[in-house]
Amino acid sequence: MTRPRFRRRIGWLPRLDYFRPDGVDVSNIEEVVLTLDELEALRLADLEGLYQEEAAKRMNVSRQTFGRIIEEAHRKVADAIVNGKAIRITGGPVEFDENLVSAFDYCVCPNCGYIKPHERGKPCRFEVCPKCGSHMVRQVNIKKGGE
Ligand SMILES: [Zn+2]
Ligand SMILES: [Zn+2]
Repeated sequence: MTRPRFRRRIGWLPRLDYFRPDGVDVSNIEEVVLTLDELEALRLADLEGLYQEEAAKRMNVSRQTFGRIIEEAHRKVADAIVNGKAIRITGGPVEFDENLVSAFDYCVCPNCGYIKPHERGKPCRFEVCPKCGSHMVRQVNIKKGGE
């Protein structure tokens, strides 16, 4: 199993991972996939109001990389709102901060960052990541996703 060399640290997982516009035909709705690192960039810069320099440090990336991440995130969100697309939040080359906050119970892929809501009574290690085939782990068990 290969790991991306540079991982972006995230300190937060969303409670909801799917947003759908009202009043559109759901059977052929278009989707935008926002990755967890892109969402974290939006949260840090746009919601917490951090300077890119500081936000980049939190995510353990260079300022240039942060700039690229947030630019892509803005483009995707704008695309969804302007063109009436749904937003699915998943994946991305992420590792989880040891102080990760989540308002929800998740199974997480420790390799690629894919997340799905945890099903009660179903051990996460029996869940296989649909993206990369790794066994998933419980979000609350993650200390530092990287090593
Ligand atoms: Zn689980
Ligand atoms: Zn995976």
